[in-house]
Amino acid sequence: MKKVMVVFPHPDDESFACGGTLAKCKDAGHETCYLCITSGCKGRSGPFEIDCREKLAKHRELELKTAAEVLGISRLELFRYPDGSLQNADLDELVDKIREAIEEWKPNVVVTFPPDGVTGHPDHIVTCEATTRAVKQAEASLTQAEYPDLYYVSIPHYYDHCPDHGPKPAVPITGKVDISGYRIQKGEALKAHLSQEYSVNRAYPGVIDGDFGVIGCYEYFTLVRSAGKAIEPVSVGGSIPLIDL
Ligand SMILES: [Zn+2]
Repeated sequence: MKKVMVVFPHPDDESFACGGTLAKCKDAGHETCYLCITSGCKGRSGPFEIDCREKLAKHRELELKTAAEVLGISRLELFRYPDGSLQNADLDELVDKIREAIEEWKPNVVVTFPPDGVTGHPDHIVTCEATTRAVKQAEASLTQAEYPDLYYVSIPHYYDHCPDHGPKPAVPITGKVDISGYRIQKGEALKAHLSQEYSVNRAYPGVIDGDFGVIGCYEYFTLVRSAGKAIEPVSVGGSIPLIDL
């Protein structure tokens, strides 16, 4: 049994980035934890009439709890930083909070966004920086056997259905998880974030209406640190190897 911790800034990032993998981990008997850094209070509110940030934050927390149940996330930790301004937060303090969570829960695997944040969102980029530093710092107080592997997640098909083209991935993908048996859970988790229907419709058209046909069979990762050492990811060329976290 493993413990897999994912660290992202927004309620919904977990479903977009690796919802299928989280559901698969749960099915394999692994424990999963989501450290969600912000409250999501700056997002859109979709079909809901929500007139203030506090109400939106509360609403998005409920959506996240539903998604977490669908994906079998065993532990949900909400840091509730203000949405959209992580670059103004005290980075050392954020690193400390993530490091403490790692030291306490002792995950075998930590997953976060790559340095370009997949979408270039500043909150995503800060979360990558803080989580990468936290994993390195946590090693000082963990035994070698407890050092987590650190993966960056990629969403290479994120922009397939968008009118604009996204940035090229910041790091080469080194492994893919087969989520073909978990597309329904991923779809249901995305659907749970109904206030974010604009974003879901952009990347996964049809999913909000229950058509999960656009959800692919793989989620993509890059191993960047293992056994206390940084790994320089190398492009694998043709076919990306199948992995499990
Ligand atoms: Zn996000």
